[in-house]
Amino acid sequence: MSNQLPYYYAIGKEVEVFEQAYKNKLPFLLKGPTGTGKSRFIEFMAHTLKKELITISCHEETSSTDLIGRYIIKGAETVWLDGPLTTAVKKGAIIYLDEIAEARPDVIVAIHSLTDHRRELFIDKLGETIKAHEDFALVASFNPGYQRGFKELKPSTRQRFVAVSFDYPEPKIEAEILVNETGVESGIAKKLVNIATKIRNLTELGLTETVSTRLLVDAAKLIHSGLPKRLSVHVAIVEPLTDDLEVISALKDLSDLMI
Ligand code: ADP
Repeated sequence: MSNQLPYYYAIGKEVEVFEQAYKNKLPFLLKGPTGTGKSRFIEFMAHTLKKELITISCHEETSSTDLIGRYIIKGAETVWLDGPLTTAVKKGAIIYLDEIAEARPDVIVAIHSLTDHRRELFIDKLGETIKAHEDFALVASFNPGYQRGFKELKPSTRQRFVAVSFDYPEPKIEAEILVNETGVESGIAKKLVNIATKIRNLTELGLTETVSTRLLVDAAKLIHSGLPKRLSVHVAIVEPLTDDLEVISALKDLSDLMI
């Protein structure tokens, strides 16, 4: 872990809420679209609380075995290898299950007893139950994705967490984040945010995900390191958004007028 505190601009009361939830050993859910600072926030919190952070990016194939552990063959023997969740539970780290809804259903079952007063993990392959370390915390993120293509999280699962919503910050703050994060000039940062705001409002385009702060950060980095502004916007903002050629061309024209 690096010793430098990661840069995080608090948008609301999320820092205080997290500190109290952590103190009270309540599991925490970060809700919101991609690129809205969820991962950065948890890195910042882990650093602030001086706890180790173990991040798992969940995907369709992520199973409870991946998290809990498995036997592996080593020479002539089979040895047990703790998975990241077991490691975090034992040593009191913060586990961050990024995009938890993407994981296989058995992951939700496996974390069940860790999310209530029991705070214990059942390792079925060993027939063992372990009590979570005092400092252990379970944090997950979830993209509610009001549009198609996203998996749901069952209400009964959601209700096991204290939850905070993340969204794109208001323009002034988002521009400030771009300046702080990349060193880009503030005038350019404002223009990038204007482009983002414009595209975010074009709901008729039916984009699955719209311009995130992450895409703006990428564009600002490219501009700051010397790539022409319009080209930077094309490759960091427009192209990653869609593969629809007509939409790409319309968005390029639109952004060219704005920067
Ligand atoms: P998520 O986990 O929600 O997908 P990230 O935490 O990876 O998003 O955020 C993407 C990038 O956006 C970060 O690397 C950071 O540069 C920037 N960012 C977004 N929100 C903030 C914020 N509130 N403070 C600082 N940086 C932010």
